[in-house]
Amino acid sequence: MIKISATPKDDAMCGWYHTAPVRQAKPGHAGDKQTRWTVLGAGFTGLAAARQLALHYPSDEIVLIDAQEVGFGTSGRNAGFAIDLPHDIGADDYIGDIGIAKSTLKLNRTGQNILHSLVQQHGIDCHMRPSGKYQAAVEDRGIAVLDAYRRGLDKLGEPYEIISGQDLPDHIGTTFYRQALFTPGTMLLQPSALVKGLADSLPANVKLYENTVITEVEYGDKVVLKHAHGRIVTDKLILANNAFGARFGFLKHTVLPMYLYASLSRPLTEAEQAQLGGKSFWGVIPADPYGSTVRRTHDNRILMRNSFSFNPDQQSKPDCLQRFAHNHRQSFERRFPMLPDVEFDYTWSGSLALTQNHKGFFGQLAPNVYGALFCNGLGVTRGTVTGTLLADLIAGQRDELIDFLLSDSGPSTLPPQPFLSIGVNATLWWGQRKAGIES
Ligand SMILES: Cc1cc2nc3c(=O)[nH]c(=O)nc-3n(C[C@H](O)[C@H](O)[C@H](O)COP(=O)(O)OP(=O)(O)OC[C@H]3O[C@@H](n4cnc5c(N)ncnc54)[C@H](O)[C@@H]3O)c2cc1C
Repeated sequence: MIKISATPKDDAMCGWYHTAPVRQAKPGHAGDKQTRWTVLGAGFTGLAAARQLALHYPSDEIVLIDAQEVGFGTSGRNAGFAIDLPHDIGADDYIGDIGIAKSTLKLNRTGQNILHSLVQQHGIDCHMRPSGKYQAAVEDRGIAVLDAYRRGLDKLGEPYEIISGQDLPDHIGTTFYRQALFTPGTMLLQPSALVKGLADSLPANVKLYENTVITEVEYGDKVVLKHAHGRIVTDKLILANNAFGARFGFLKHTVLPMYLYASLSRPLTEAEQAQLGGKSFWGVIPADPYGSTVRRTHDNRILMRNSFSFNPDQQSKPDCLQRFAHNHRQSFERRFPMLPDVEFDYTWSGSLALTQNHKGFFGQLAPNVYGALFCNGLGVTRGTVTGTLLADLIAGQRDELIDFLLSDSGPSTLPPQPFLSIGVNATLWWGQRKAGIES
């Protein structure tokens, strides 16, 4: 029996969760249960895997478990960019190998299409819009990144538009940035509303248990999952619990549990909207990875996302929340001096599974255990498509995207502690310092 040494417990102040439609969480599991299929983790990946397994095995019950309420965990805490384009930060032009880039693009677009058609089919109220994204820069280093990425997009044959600093206020109001590269394929959405809607539209043969924290696991002919109120004995286990997957005995020393931070303002008044100007709905990602993601939402709030911490114990840290709320305030004031009285209603953190080589895991971990793990910050589309394709693989299907995922080398092994923490903390400190006013 393996004791799970860290389980999720996110902070209570996620703005997306509180401003999404209220839903009734499904009761937690209690007692003893035997089942053929269990999916662990009801974020984008687990919801997609459970849905697809249910379609492949309509007469089986698919058990789906989450430690928290759906929409409260990382899948409900992100910035809500469903991104199509690849962005290989290890390559000079951020595109790298053209064959890999094309397959990644196809994978991401498949994830987007799955989400878009589920939203349409079930009328999920999550403000999903094909709005594109602005990748924006203010420092010389950022401008150089945009220039390199533009060359990469030419190579890939994907459209973009370069928008000069003087034209940007017509798009996003602020005069803060010197240049932006607009790419049209991103969809923006309210992530907590989306995952709540996905959970409430699962096929009837998916049995969802929320607030059920798996604390022990035993592998054998069957997998036994224990929690405080009982146990689930399953023929097959699908791990879709992102960074926490590494606590289940596989892929040890491969994942860096990072925490990211975001704040959401109160809605702007009509007068403030007029002072801001620009379009009514947009999203900016930074040219510098340590810069700020910014959004104007459907309900006229401003989202600021920046700052990272490395939390090897995988627990959120209240002192970081306070410190980084202050960073968000400063970043907001730099960009929106015309909105001096706009306070943040919410500041929260979310856990992110990063690997050193930016590769996730997809496939079989043991004879009766499968996984789609380690989102590397792109789980909205990637989690959706890998969860779906993992279910297809389990059902015996193969296609070019499954082959592409299976051919991947997977996450690399990390250096041991204390070198790891020293190295990661130094990299974060330097990256955040170097970002300067991009943050
Ligand atoms: C601030 C922030 C901004 C981000 N912005 C973006 C963005 O704009 N676009 C994008 O694509 N991605 C973004 N991401 C990343 C994105 O949120 C993740 O990639 C995505 O949530 C991964 O989905 P997932 O389903 O694989 O994992 P998760 O969403 O982490 O879901 C895993 C689930 O497993 C459950 N679980 C774990 N352990 C246990 C256990 N022991 N027992 C029971 N349940 C368990 C957890 O409660 C959790 O709900 C961002 C992340 C953060 C934090």
